[in-house]
Amino acid sequence: MRIIDPHMHMVSRSTDDYERARLAGIECCIEPAFWSGTDKQHAGAFFDYFEQIIQHETERAERVAGIDHYVTIALEPKEANYPEMAREVLDRVPEYLDRDPVVGVGEIGLDQNTEEEREAFREQLWMAEERELPVIVHTPHTDKPSGTETIVGIIEDEGVTQERIVIDHNTENTIDITAETDCWIGFTLYPGKIDPGGAIDLLEEYGTDRMLLNSAADWDPSDPLAVPKARDEMVDRGWDREEVRKVVLENPHEFFSQSPNFEYEL
Ligand SMILES: [Zn+2]
Repeated sequence: MRIIDPHMHMVSRSTDDYERARLAGIECCIEPAFWSGTDKQHAGAFFDYFEQIIQHETERAERVAGIDHYVTIALEPKEANYPEMAREVLDRVPEYLDRDPVVGVGEIGLDQNTEEEREAFREQLWMAEERELPVIVHTPHTDKPSGTETIVGIIEDEGVTQERIVIDHNTENTIDITAETDCWIGFTLYPGKIDPGGAIDLLEEYGTDRMLLNSAADWDPSDPLAVPKARDEMVDRGWDREEVRKVVLENPHEFFSQSPNFEYEL
């Protein structure tokens, strides 16, 4: 069964990981711009990074594994806390949003829940709204439920289109908050966030509409095969195969098909 992993930071992964991902069924992935493990000190570092994921990773994914690789671009929340650098980056984010294969804005949201982060979040929500692009929203690691409530409050306040937004990194402590909205609901199968079994339990309880599973696959302990493993666990639990296919393929396809640059075909 084919898979789209809608959130993979492959820039931090090896060629072997691309090959294993493809062998496990991942034919398409989306790479959001994120925090690189240390705070960047220069706006120019963002632009080099954006170019790297837009050009090099897209080419590498195709060349080494035949994987269709798409990108979302944004100033991620942590580095919104350096106002001067953040301003320079935000001023140039729009020019990247028109690039091929950029399919949305992300990841944006909150990390430490500062005023600077909230402002950058609102501004980038509108960049997406004006271009009718999908949005990937990062929820904080600490005090996640109240951070998620703040995020939902901002989305509602701004009145932007919720059907084009995925609120990511949900757990059993946040799903009741996000399920109240019309946003899509993402689960990152990642140590310290939620494991595949825990996410599948929630899908069994809340249904599979608007639900997305991803691996993050970044530079910390994480697993680029987390979504294929979840697919196998759903099949092993006796799920209808059509329902499994909806979660790992059709849902992410439907979500990103809202972007004019997303061309992966079912
Ligand atoms: Zn991420």
